[in-house]
Amino acid sequence: MTKITLGLVARTPGASKRNRTGGWRTLRPVVDASKCKKCWLCVVYCPDSAMKKGEKSSRPDYDYCKGCGICARECPAKCITMVEEEK
Ligand code: SF4
Ligand code: SF4
Repeated sequence: MTKITLGLVARTPGASKRNRTGGWRTLRPVVDASKCKKCWLCVVYCPDSAMKKGEKSSRPDYDYCKGCGICARECPAKCITMVEEEK
């Protein structure tokens, strides 16, 4: 994963794809696929477009997920848990 330096200024359009912001995360969303209703509200609400549609449930893209927790808060089935990030 590309390390992002403090004070990074990304001037090039599309630069966010190269700069994997998942390294900023202190909490990670974990989806319980057995409870997921595939309503995709978490996909819609994710401010970083880091929550993706999966075959059995939504699927966080940990390269870009910043761990804000919005998906967990908005999930009507309460099947997303925010857990402490591993080092
Ligand atoms: S924790 Fe935030 S950034 Fe990560 S998938 Fe959920 S809404 Fe998106
Ligand atoms: S909001 Fe919850 S139930 Fe809906 S797709 Fe996301 S994880 Fe599944």
